[in-house]
Amino acid sequence: MLRVDLHTHSSVSDGTDTPTQLVHKAQASGLDVIGLTDHDTFDGIDEATEAGKRIGLTVVPGVEISCERNGASVHLLGFWCDRWHRGLGDELRKSRAGRTGRIEAMAERLTELGMPLTSDDIRRAAKASPSVGRPHVADAMVAKGYVANRNEAFDLWLADDKPGYVHRYAIPLELAIDLVHAAHGVAVLAHPWGRGRAHVLPADYIGDLVTDHGLDGIEVDHEDHDDDTRELLFRLGARLGLVRTGSSDYHGLGKEGHELGCNLTRASAFRELQRVARGRGARV
Ligand code: AMP
Ligand code: ZN
Ligand code: FE
Ligand code: FE
Repeated sequence: MLRVDLHTHSSVSDGTDTPTQLVHKAQASGLDVIGLTDHDTFDGIDEATEAGKRIGLTVVPGVEISCERNGASVHLLGFWCDRWHRGLGDELRKSRAGRTGRIEAMAERLTELGMPLTSDDIRRAAKASPSVGRPHVADAMVAKGYVANRNEAFDLWLADDKPGYVHRYAIPLELAIDLVHAAHGVAVLAHPWGRGRAHVLPADYIGDLVTDHGLDGIEVDHEDHDDDTRELLFRLGARLGLVRTGSSDYHGLGKEGHELGCNLTRASAFRELQRVARGRGARV
């Protein structure tokens, strides 16, 4: 049976394994296919694809796009997109700039809150990542000894409703779906009902995304979804004709309890996604 984990991160965004390490660990975990879905960037795709070819592991080129709806942040996965599509590239660049552009403000905010931090501390924590975000702020806080780990940093200070949060530009969700399609890719809503997002993305709105924007799939099996949520999303997806995926959302040491392969995409769902992508003109 094909073992497919469609949503993983490398050190090119906020994971801790390089794309090559990630691919090797995926194979050691018994996976046959991974999607590399770094936040707002395709920079790791070539390295991961090459590493995969050398050892016989398939890398699906992907991206996890930072989006917003009604001011709340939501994530969209794009697979097999044309990486050189101008419109998509421009929006991703704007989103990365928004993500990184607020780092200075977050350093100031945390300093005011009694945790002195400079934007250099945060950039150092981000190493070479072209997409510096809150997880790196969390890493810098851990390095300073303000919190024990990333989770604590988010729970106390960095989550959307906590005092260390600073707003950023993210792509309107409907535009992001349209851009993924313009780039011949397939669009899958990431962890739609995880971490209190259920009220941001209610079932009837997801239905609208299907009818008005041709949304292709939803992530069902994800660590942020409990069993009941998975059941509800599975049925919703079936009713709306969406491809239902599963993934680890692996970040290496950057996210506990998200081990490679802890959730999988069924082989039949993966084949269906490939079929839809070919229909959109993607090179699969
Ligand atoms: P940013 O794009 O800089 O706003 O950061 C968003 C990233 O932070 C997402 O990719 C999540 O993986 C991570 N994140 C968001 N909320 C939490 C949370 N409550 N706990 C841990 N990580 C989180
Ligand atoms: Zn992440
Ligand atoms: Fe996400
Ligand atoms: Fe993710």
